[in-house]
Amino acid sequence: MKTYPRFITPGFEPFDPIELARETEKIICRGNERKYTAFYATGVGGIATGYTCGCCLRCFFCWVDWSRDFPERFGKFYSPAEAFEKLSEAAHKYGVRKLRISGAEPTLGREHLLALLELVDNSEFDIFILETNGILFGADENYVKDLSRFKKPHVRVSLKAGNPEAFTRRTGAKPESFELPFRAIRNLLNYGVSFHVAGMMDDPRIVSKQERVELAKRLAEIDPRLVVAFEGEVIDPYETTLARLKSAGLSLKWPLKERYSLFGKD
Ligand code: SF4
Repeated sequence: MKTYPRFITPGFEPFDPIELARETEKIICRGNERKYTAFYATGVGGIATGYTCGCCLRCFFCWVDWSRDFPERFGKFYSPAEAFEKLSEAAHKYGVRKLRISGAEPTLGREHLLALLELVDNSEFDIFILETNGILFGADENYVKDLSRFKKPHVRVSLKAGNPEAFTRRTGAKPESFELPFRAIRNLLNYGVSFHVAGMMDDPRIVSKQERVELAKRLAEIDPRLVVAFEGEVIDPYETTLARLKSAGLSLKWPLKERYSLFGKD
């Protein structure tokens, strides 16, 4: 990789997300440790979350802090046992029984994640939500097979687009990598891992109706239940999101007046 991509700019050169994953892992992983920026919970009925550092996509709508773009500057290394301890502490403080890893891409650092899941599986916690862009689960079926050993994970696969062109425009990744999250979905189904699919599909400012139909068709071909359970999202105006949109040359109107509801929950 000639230069490490930070954020999308007009005329950017699309990158290979697998290559970017490997480059990012060199920064955010040290043995089975990986970098996190924070651990906290959100009150009773909520969820204790570990916020990871570093991603293999560069979505222009991303809300994650600057540790996504500059992972070498942010975060601290945690072993799986230390990360589990921080998650448990946050969960106990607020009396919650759900854990999650979010922020950037939690599937980077496979050794760390699998060791952490082992600890979660043997704990009192009920469920472990794993939020992913699906790139690495699509690229390596064995990663999903390894994941299927555990009882507690529930995966939330976040799709970025309904066709390859829109995928590249929004994420910076090469159009051929558009297929990877769909392969991830097939792998999760084949190995019986609990999951659902989400995506930035309810925002008419960046997604056309035609693209939504394309995505719905792709999902229905795999399993129609995926369309019914689809969790639609819209862009929120976080400071980092606004800066990334600006750098990509986009200017959106706020607040959002109307959102799609074809297969979103609203
Ligand atoms: S939205 Fe998710 S997949 Fe996209 S850059 Fe941010 S953390 Fe990575």
